[in-house]
Amino acid sequence: MSARLQLVWFRSDLRVYDNAALVQAMSQGPTLAIFIACPDSWQQHDMAPIKQDLIRRRALALQQELAELQVPLLLAEGSDYEAVQDIFRALVPLGIGCVYSELEYELREQQRDQQLQAWLTEQGIDWWQCDRQTAFTPGRFVNGSGSMYQVFTPFKKRWLQALAEQELTVLPKPKPQQKMELALPQLPVFQPGNGSSKDWSVDSEELLQQLRDYCQSRVQLYKKQRDFPALDATSRLSPYLAVGALSVRQCIRRLQLEAGNAIWQAESGAAVWLSELIWRDFYKHVLVAWPELIKHQPFQKDTTAIRWRNDKTLFAAWCAGQTGYPLVDAAMRQLNQTGWMHNRLRMVVASFLVKDLHIDWRWGERYFMRQLIDGDFAANNGGWQWAASTGTDAAPYFRIFNPITQSERFDPKGHFIRNWLPELAAVPDAAIHWPHKLTNRNQYPAPVVDHAKARATTLELFQQARQQAGEGL
Ligand SMILES: Cc1cc2nc3c(=O)[nH]c(=O)nc-3n(C[C@H](O)[C@H](O)[C@H](O)COP(=O)(O)OP(=O)(O)OC[C@H]3O[C@@H](n4cnc5c(N)ncnc54)[C@H](O)[C@@H]3O)c2cc1C
Repeated sequence: MSARLQLVWFRSDLRVYDNAALVQAMSQGPTLAIFIACPDSWQQHDMAPIKQDLIRRRALALQQELAELQVPLLLAEGSDYEAVQDIFRALVPLGIGCVYSELEYELREQQRDQQLQAWLTEQGIDWWQCDRQTAFTPGRFVNGSGSMYQVFTPFKKRWLQALAEQELTVLPKPKPQQKMELALPQLPVFQPGNGSSKDWSVDSEELLQQLRDYCQSRVQLYKKQRDFPALDATSRLSPYLAVGALSVRQCIRRLQLEAGNAIWQAESGAAVWLSELIWRDFYKHVLVAWPELIKHQPFQKDTTAIRWRNDKTLFAAWCAGQTGYPLVDAAMRQLNQTGWMHNRLRMVVASFLVKDLHIDWRWGERYFMRQLIDGDFAANNGGWQWAASTGTDAAPYFRIFNPITQSERFDPKGHFIRNWLPELAAVPDAAIHWPHKLTNRNQYPAPVVDHAKARATTLELFQQARQQAGEGL
């Protein structure tokens, strides 16, 4: 075997810009690339069909973008992670010298990589991995006792200090290589997807433009408007960050270039948006520090004892957007119909499921993953455990969102509600948050629970669990 080819294995880094694995491979010699769709493994991860479609569409776009660099991208269908080794075996006769990829933090992915690493070593093939899913590598920021921060604020302080001290590098798109003549092996045929994500562009230049536009203008209003779901005030870049079509470094660097010093002014839209990107890093650092979270364990161990009611009828009403609480229902219908939900509403519906319906947060976490185009284990788990008061830096258990007050505050005129609940279109502004008080509800359901009573039950459930855990109150 003549070890002459470099092989880039694209996984959660489906981009040509700021791709360290691609840059490193091409600096070492003639480069080939591969992407392997693993729908059975994706399903085991509860990956939503719309996210799977986005990945497939993005992989096809990537193939064209890499063709302009004269890098052939092989697209293969691997069913599950077990099949990955067989696909690599078919590539060995090409003379692969080294495989290049970006590290993935989740458990099954780590197991897959360990097995493949052992096999590649037997074949005499090297593996170069880089850790670039976050702006700063997990493990870098530790508290006085040498452990990862459990609280966001000190983590953020250290993170910002690092940003002030060190310019983040964003790697350019590599220059084209010499055209190669290769006799490529037959691989299981890649399926193009069903187009369900078609409302989301997969063209690199368009995504960069979207990022640029956002950082140039709308970000300025982010602090003021980000909590109002009827306004288009957030970036909607989460699906691209989730599949790696954009990197977090690209977002931060672009923000620095467009907003300049505003990122250091705590009250500016740019600083608040940056803070959200730091939350993204935070949850990934948390996951690496406490990998047991991947097994859906609560971070706060005493909450393991909570006796969730887990009423299946109530869960079905929540999933379908039929709880009788308009903002909750409008949000769930947005999720079901588009695969995306506004951040304020993710907090509201998560709190409602756990603290009004007393359903285990893991049911909601899983439902979200099965629907979201931007499903990301670390952010989703972090968000759910925050809302359920079971996680790192979680909301205190006695802080319980009131779904009516949230509705009045963040959708005052009911624009968002009416958009997603057509049955309430004719309800006047004064009643839009309280349609259950109307005599004619137009088939809209009565509230499935009474918030005040549900709140009291939540406090009891948490207190019982704490007593059981021996901590008392
Ligand atoms: C219960 C719950 C579940 C969530 N599940 C996910 C998920 O599966 N995937 C996901 O990407 N985000 C998740 N989030 C975080 C957040 O709601 C989304 O990132 C955000 O709504 C995406 O919209 P945007 O791109 O317009 O965000 P913007 O407001 O424009 O923020 C920019 C980027 O920062 C990151 N970000 C923003 N807020 C958060 C946050 N609270 N935690 C972590 N990262 C954040 C995202 O990558 C986002 O694209 C969840 C939040 C909650 C409360």
